Amino acid sequence: MKDKKIIAYKNERTKKIAYNLRKLIVRVVMAEWGRLGKEQENKPTLEYIEIGNERGDLYGALQASICECSSCRDTNDDMEYNATLKEWFCTQCAQEYRDYYHKEKEIYGDHYAKVHDDEDFYETFL
Ligand SMILES: [Zn+2]
Repeated sequence: MKDKKIIAYKNERTKKIAYNLRKLIVRVVMAEWGRLGKEQENKPTLEYIEIGNERGDLYGALQASICECSSCRDTNDDMEYNATLKEWFCTQCAQEYRDYYHKEKEIYGDHYAKVHDDEDFYETFL
């Protein structure tokens, strides 16, 4: 098993501040993302694409951040960094991915790849 980088706040006050900050950052980023979407409307093609790229970068930065789980979008949980995907997942989602992979591996064994095309994804959580 690889070393896992997990952020888990033990102090309740620190946890509350961190979770509120995460939520605030997500809210601000999504408000800007929405504003850019409105600004994008009825723009000439080049400008439309440039604004679209800016929106994509903004969303990508949020997805790569610890502010929310890349899978369930939860902000109020301990987070685990997936170094291969370069994204943060809540520890619950990461564990569910591991459990699912192990369960399917138990069922299909060496034939796993014949019935699933997502082995690379799940293996990043092991
Ligand atoms: Zn999650």
